[in-house]
Amino acid sequence: MKLYSLGLLIVIILFDQSRADLFSFKPSSNRNDFDDKCFCKLREEVDDCECKIESIDKLNNYQVHPRINTIVQKDYFRFIKLNLNKICQFWTDDARCSLKDCHVKSCNQDDLPASFRNIINQQDENDKKDNNKNKKVVQAQAENCEQSNPLGHINSSLSDESIKAFEDMKKYDDAQDNFCEPDDETHAQAEYLDLVLNPERFTGYKAPHAHKIWNSIYRENCFENTDRIAYGPEKNTCLEKRFFYRLVSGLHTSINVHLSARFLHKGLLDQADVWGPNPEEFKKRFDPETTNGLGPQWLKNLYFIYLVELRALAKVAPYLEKETFYAGRSQVEDEEAKFAVLDLLKTIKNFQYHFNETRLFRGNPIEAKTLKEEFQTKFRNITRIMDCVGCDKCRLWGKVQTLALGTSLKILFSGKISSDNANSKNSFQLTRTEIVALFNGFARLSNSIAEIENFRELLSRSTTETKTILKNQSKIDL
Ligand SMILES: Cc1cc2nc3c(=O)[nH]c(=O)nc-3n(C[C@H](O)[C@H](O)[C@H](O)COP(=O)(O)OP(=O)(O)OC[C@H]3O[C@@H](n4cnc5c(N)ncnc54)[C@H](O)[C@@H]3O)c2cc1C
Repeated sequence: MKLYSLGLLIVIILFDQSRADLFSFKPSSNRNDFDDKCFCKLREEVDDCECKIESIDKLNNYQVHPRINTIVQKDYFRFIKLNLNKICQFWTDDARCSLKDCHVKSCNQDDLPASFRNIINQQDENDKKDNNKNKKVVQAQAENCEQSNPLGHINSSLSDESIKAFEDMKKYDDAQDNFCEPDDETHAQAEYLDLVLNPERFTGYKAPHAHKIWNSIYRENCFENTDRIAYGPEKNTCLEKRFFYRLVSGLHTSINVHLSARFLHKGLLDQADVWGPNPEEFKKRFDPETTNGLGPQWLKNLYFIYLVELRALAKVAPYLEKETFYAGRSQVEDEEAKFAVLDLLKTIKNFQYHFNETRLFRGNPIEAKTLKEEFQTKFRNITRIMDCVGCDKCRLWGKVQTLALGTSLKILFSGKISSDNANSKNSFQLTRTEIVALFNGFARLSNSIAEIENFRELLSRSTTETKTILKNQSKIDL
């Protein structure tokens, strides 16, 4: 274990160093007109937080990004069980896109680590064994007890109705904590998907379908009481509502940064189609001139959602530190995954300017409770809207990233983790799918922040220089 850990540490240090060389963090040296216009807001503090964007850039690009990238390649984190065939609950005219780049490659069962293939059977077997064992122990205890004191005997048998009621209670309790509507993993259509094989990138999914989704997310779920399409700057709303809008907008930014960073360049290299950054696409999406002045704020919102998920990881660290991250294909791989997670969590915990979630849902307890419930309902709706996304790959990553955000909100606001009881696993539970989504969703945000730095660099160069860099950065990636 020590040897692997040391190896991994060296790789991370070398990677850190190479990034440090690549991004020298002297924005002024490369600053031009466009930099001043588009990235102007990135010289400020994150809204409603006491954290400079520059501090997040440094933390992410030097330390977090190489670490989280290593983690999401590991077996435990790369496979996720989701149902991409759920029916859209909101409208019926959903035309599922048939674009080639939207297609999601399913996992061949034989390619999965053994623990995932057998997980359900094993669980059933273990449950049966445990049940039988428990029944015998309970019976023996009951007999002993009856013999010594028949009047003190407790009838521990449960009617079917009571068992059902307890199950419903458990579901109710879980639902109280959850900000997402999770997929039923036992559903016949739920399947393991390999996130490394299906990277988030340009798919060609666009208006009117994509707009219908974004429109529905913003208009119906962002506390906006207006007919105006609510993509504009937030109004003078309370902290919680601003918080909600920025999270959604930050997620939108991250998705659009990714499709600009892994864009399909037709015939760029010796007539071959290659994937690589497209600075013009990025510019079009975030330049104040083409976004009614709003692009820079949307970029800033990415840092906001990053800070929120970063804080969730810091808060849930004592829980995650006890997980094994067992996938079962190779002991070395599993140990490396565990070591890499511990190392990342340590880095994150050392960060000084964490988001302060205790500022939300305060004040009058009844109003705060109602607001939180409204918040939860709206966010759950967003996770349901993901089933309406008409492009498989966008739906896959939309589901992963909203689940990551929902899991972060559960960590921050379920009230079951505080610095005192974080060690108690009984009071707070995350499913494997939530953990995998949390790391992958956060990895997407981390990657977007690193990509922004890359675009900044590309956009500061002359057209000829940019073309050469693009050719070097692009690859045939089918
Ligand atoms: C869940 C989901 C996942 C997707 N995943 C992918 C993917 O993996 N690959 C891919 O190629 N495409 C993906 N798309 C499509 C992509 O996000 C765009 O919708 C598409 O490229 C069309 O872009 P657009 O320029 O028309 O503006 P859109 O991005 O569709 O935005 C619509 C409007 O929203 C406003 N807006 C834009 N950005 C923000 C922001 N950050 N904050 C607030 N308001 C904003 C603007 O007014 C804009 O006109 C996804 C869409 C959705 C809904």
